[in-house]
Amino acid sequence: MATTLERRELGNTGLKVSYIGFGASPLGNVFGHVSHGNALAAVREALRVGINFFDTSPYYGGTVSETVLGNCLKELGVRRDEIVVSTKCGRYIDGFDFSAERVTRSIDESLARLKMDHVDILHCHDIEFGSLDQIVNETIPALQKLKEAGKIRFIGITGLPLGVFTYVLDRVPPGSVDVILSYCHYSINDSTLEDLLPYLKSKGVGVITASPLAMGLLTENGPPEWHPASPELKSACRAAAAQCKEKGKNISKVALQYSLTNKEISTVLVGMNSPRQVEENVAAALELSHEGIDEDLLQEVSAALEPVKNQTWPSGIQQT
Ligand code: NAD
Repeated sequence: MATTLERRELGNTGLKVSYIGFGASPLGNVFGHVSHGNALAAVREALRVGINFFDTSPYYGGTVSETVLGNCLKELGVRRDEIVVSTKCGRYIDGFDFSAERVTRSIDESLARLKMDHVDILHCHDIEFGSLDQIVNETIPALQKLKEAGKIRFIGITGLPLGVFTYVLDRVPPGSVDVILSYCHYSINDSTLEDLLPYLKSKGVGVITASPLAMGLLTENGPPEWHPASPELKSACRAAAAQCKEKGKNISKVALQYSLTNKEISTVLVGMNSPRQVEENVAAALELSHEGIDEDLLQEVSAALEPVKNQTWPSGIQQT
């Protein structure tokens, strides 16, 4: 019986990542204030239960997430070769800049905050807000140089609209983008990423998904103020969460388990801000591998969310 988290190959990178990854955006206080004690305890607990993948960005909390994650990993004396760390470039608290000059400077700033000499993955962050042709012709080539310099091992792209992935992957030399990070498209309310998985496999690109709880929509506490979902989607999720609670069940558990079931997805990033959340999420994953998902509950939640199924929100600029 598994007592530790499964690890999966990440595309062709040779990296083996725990199928729950630690999303460090909450450490930047983006879902509410997180004390240093809680951040440290969450990271310690994650490592203890076998989470080896940590994701951050200079954007999260205006660099706070990177700094806090770097401090926690250092304080805990974690060996660099025992973890896989990704951060991002191109999106900052004061706007977007995917120029070669900015992303080249950005990695040095990130490495200083993380207290590391390299990251495993550097993602271009939310590329739908930039010119996709600039990503193809300028940003990815700049990242290739960072790869050659040993500052990053692999290159990724992230974004909300799924079309940005095919646009870029169809235009860059094969093998120059190693992974994609898609969010809010593989959870109970929206599973549209599924259709893209065969294409991504054919390109040899590793798949990371994020936000199995739909950035808080599929939690009892509900989403933060800034959540971009429509009032209709928010209210359907609120009702589904209440329905689960009435039965003594937690919507977050079944939501996370749903996201973990597809083995074509190497790892699912969950934002976690306390050891309790780490424990709960890992317990949900281990229960899934022993007992499978609660099919009745999944069907009920799916039925409640059917009227808003695959509803998303606009993100990015109009591409010319
Ligand atoms: P999420 O769906 O993981 O939800 C996070 C929220 O749920 C937080 O408020 C967290 O405290 C709460 N939570 C976590 N476990 C819980 C539990 N067991 N019970 C109740 N609440 C729980 O959304 P997210 O944090 O946005 O996404 C996860 C990570 O993925 C991010 O931290 C980030 O690293 C990454 N991400 C990247 C992008 C991008 O690159 N564009 C976009 C979104 C997310």
